[in-house]
Amino acid sequence: MNPVMAVIPSKELVREMDVAAPRYTSYPTIPVWSTADSCGSFAEVLRGHSADTPLTLYFHVPFCPSICHYCGCNTSKLECDAQTAEYAQALQQEIRLVRSFLPERHRVTQIHWGGGTPSTLKNEEFTDILNLLHESFDVAEDAELAIETNPMTCTDAKLRFLLDTGFNRFSIGVQDFDPEVQRLIGRNQTFARTAEFCDAIRKHGVRSLNFDLVYGLPAQNLEKAGETMSRVVELGPDRIAVYSFAFLPNLRDNQRNIDTSLIPGTDMKFDLYLLTIARLQEAGFEMIGMDHYAKPEDELAVAWREKRLRRNFMGYTTKAETDVIALGATSISDVSGYYCQNIKDNAPYFNSVHAGRLPVQREITLDRDDTIRRRVIMNLLCNGIAVKQDINSQFGISFDDYFALELPRLEPLIEKGLVVHDARAVEATETGRFFLRNIALHFDNYFDGRKGPNTGATFSRTV
Ligand code: SF4
Repeated sequence: MNPVMAVIPSKELVREMDVAAPRYTSYPTIPVWSTADSCGSFAEVLRGHSADTPLTLYFHVPFCPSICHYCGCNTSKLECDAQTAEYAQALQQEIRLVRSFLPERHRVTQIHWGGGTPSTLKNEEFTDILNLLHESFDVAEDAELAIETNPMTCTDAKLRFLLDTGFNRFSIGVQDFDPEVQRLIGRNQTFARTAEFCDAIRKHGVRSLNFDLVYGLPAQNLEKAGETMSRVVELGPDRIAVYSFAFLPNLRDNQRNIDTSLIPGTDMKFDLYLLTIARLQEAGFEMIGMDHYAKPEDELAVAWREKRLRRNFMGYTTKAETDVIALGATSISDVSGYYCQNIKDNAPYFNSVHAGRLPVQREITLDRDDTIRRRVIMNLLCNGIAVKQDINSQFGISFDDYFALELPRLEPLIEKGLVVHDARAVEATETGRFFLRNIALHFDNYFDGRKGPNTGATFSRTV
């Protein structure tokens, strides 16, 4: 199958379009959510949840054997075995709690383990949690069982356990294979071990292997990035996510270990980005949504072409109609027009679940305007198009009237050849696909405080 090629932008265009903007894993974005006074709203949402809508379950495990200097995740260094035992107990308690509010047994079609490093849990801790899940839910036979892994800390025995347990999607954080870059970001991940790890996964017949790459890391240059791309292509993952390094040392203590003088300047960062996407296209990967690339035969690429891709906090998915219930500290649920985030720190999270309280810390119930805009923004980010008739019939509105203020704001993007706006749709062009966040931004009613308070939140750059 031949990939559908996007048209790679010029460096000048990249420079122009590089602004701070939300990533829209949710809409409205987290900074505008409220602090939850109680867990009452989430309990109500769960009580009213229809079993017709299957569930995705996300488990967050906030431990790593050591902390990488560049990391932006909610995680901490694992100090002793007792920590994962305590955490696994809390996860089980949270499963029981969630189940007690649901009116009936619900079908689960996707289970995703992220972190942190989920493989820090011991085998018996995984087994106990998965057994409880099967007791509490109808887990589909073909359910996706996905996990984020680090080949350097996930032993062969642990990998064999995960494969034998039925994990069928693996995501590997690669970031960069260059030893100097790795040293500067506090990682040590050899190509040989990563290759061996991928080989074992493939030999087991796993359907999906994803790599995460990061550009803009200290000491990265075009030569090193080119070498990393050759090695990545050699390992043949099905999907690749490419992220820009977000350097936020005021928010992330661990990032203060980074030598700022070695972080590539903006110009080099753009070059690294352009090299990465060009090499991915040359290797036959198709760009899907934003930041993600997949082999043309991968189901995400097929869903992109068929305009039925969806997005949630774990990334892109073909599971269009699931609600997400997230378990573990800091994890984020997305259920029936309601979002909530769990308590971030482990100790209060434990206290809450053991006291029989859903551990909700922040939340928002979408109003009608949020729901309409979320649909438009997600359609743009997932499929590069918002078809007016689809929105009109779903919400009983006239798209052109409803977005009478927003549509003229697209004019500069139209002039740059990034957007086509006609009677049928707002659609990203083949170059506009690289700037979906810039397009979606215009439909965000909270950005710049247009609706609700201006939170002054810091967003990452679009490039
Ligand atoms: S392994 Fe991943 S989650 Fe853990 S510290 Fe490193 S980047 Fe963060």
